Amino acid sequence: MTGTYDWNPMPHRLDVRCTSCRALAGFEFAEAVRIKRKTDIPFFEASPQLDYEFFPVRGYDAAWHGALFYAGLHGGLGALTELPEGYAASDWAHSRYLMRSQPLGAGALLCAACGRRAKHRLRWPDDAWFQLAHRGQVLWAFHRESAVALRDFIASSERKIARHKWSSMLLHVPGHFLTAKARTDVLKRLERLLEG
Ligand SMILES: [Zn+2]
Repeated sequence: MTGTYDWNPMPHRLDVRCTSCRALAGFEFAEAVRIKRKTDIPFFEASPQLDYEFFPVRGYDAAWHGALFYAGLHGGLGALTELPEGYAASDWAHSRYLMRSQPLGAGALLCAACGRRAKHRLRWPDDAWFQLAHRGQVLWAFHRESAVALRDFIASSERKIARHKWSSMLLHVPGHFLTAKARTDVLKRLERLLEG
């Protein structure tokens, strides 16, 4: 739960490196819903689909009780058929924005290559599939679509970050990746990642 990415805008699904076979795998964030009544806690502790979690809030005395759902491990919201009064399965839907409901980086890792399906705490950008190091700094992209956008951004001469769909990613591009000296090499390596 360290790192500065905790509440930064990220898509709900990312391309990551599988923790067992190192192949390209998918990661999907889990969604947390605030538990309304303390008397609901035993239900969530016993639930096979939902995980009870206690969330401390950094820098504040406040903390909250939440129920985490790993959609990637349960085949979607349809798995949530029985819930206490006052909750609906749709409460655990991903936001339409690049917003996260929990600061743990909790999610599911799904690997088609080796069949791994497991809970995983994201370490970003260490887990990123699309990443390359240059002079001690790492350039990364969330997934294929944003890696294509990153390539186009680096290749382009006018680099507008404001209002860009992936501005939250482009803001993290270390400056030296954009220098004329680094650009050709960086573009070649990005291209290779996209082909692979
Ligand atoms: Zn794997």
